[in-house]
Amino acid sequence: MPELPEVETVRRYLQNHLPGKSIQQIEIFLPRLIKNATSQQFAAALKNKKIKKVERRGKYLFLHIDGPQSLLIHLRMTGRLVYEEEPFSVLPRFNRIVFQLTQGRMLYGDVRTLGCLWLIPSVGLTGVKGYDTLGPDGTSPDFTAAYLRQKLKDTTRTIKSFLLDQTNVAGLGNIYVDEALFAARITPLRRCNRIGKETAVRLHDAVVRVLEEGIVHGGTTIRDFINGSGKEGQNQQNLCVYGREGRPCPVCGTKIVYIKLAGRGTHYCPHCQK
Ligand SMILES: [Zn+2]
Repeated sequence: MPELPEVETVRRYLQNHLPGKSIQQIEIFLPRLIKNATSQQFAAALKNKKIKKVERRGKYLFLHIDGPQSLLIHLRMTGRLVYEEEPFSVLPRFNRIVFQLTQGRMLYGDVRTLGCLWLIPSVGLTGVKGYDTLGPDGTSPDFTAAYLRQKLKDTTRTIKSFLLDQTNVAGLGNIYVDEALFAARITPLRRCNRIGKETAVRLHDAVVRVLEEGIVHGGTTIRDFINGSGKEGQNQQNLCVYGREGRPCPVCGTKIVYIKLAGRGTHYCPHCQK
């Protein structure tokens, strides 16, 4: 699924194109994607309203609308948001919602239809539990080594499951957790409370670095991800362990191992990661 770098890549494109444009018309082909409103309520709240700003926290996109209600989107597995300028071609396959704007249109597409859209109050808590309980964003100044160290001390979970938990740090998913643990030379099986201060600092640096590199490379496209202009990311070329089971570790040449951990496929080097 799209993780922080992919969602940030989409956000940057949309932020460059959407602010100042108004939503003129909304066509909803799959109403159940909207989690807390009917199609009629959704369209009525957003129609003829101006988009002010596109923000992101963790893997959520927050479209600030000039009005009491705004739009929150989680792309889940295969959701994609693309802004098209005219002239329009036919709608792409698996397109689910069309936002006709004063100039151009924004398309929400989704092959597996697991994505979520919510109407939310423009200020204050959103009422969306997964969003309101998010921990500090992995790229924000609030996510510090001291914060991470403090959180790790309190739990005996494995570090893999800790990092996937969005209430600890927002934005990481399977790909960037595996890559960050490799960069920090920590086995995904390590218990959090057994991670010392120096290692916690190394892990913090690794998390920030893999996320920032992911953004620089326009996100990772394993299968479905495309950015806000409809193009694939390039970061898949920089992965060291994710999706590389049985292939040599780029540092020591040992074969990368694949296990199931915290219910998720997990890749690591048994030699480099202790
Ligand atoms: Zn290795």
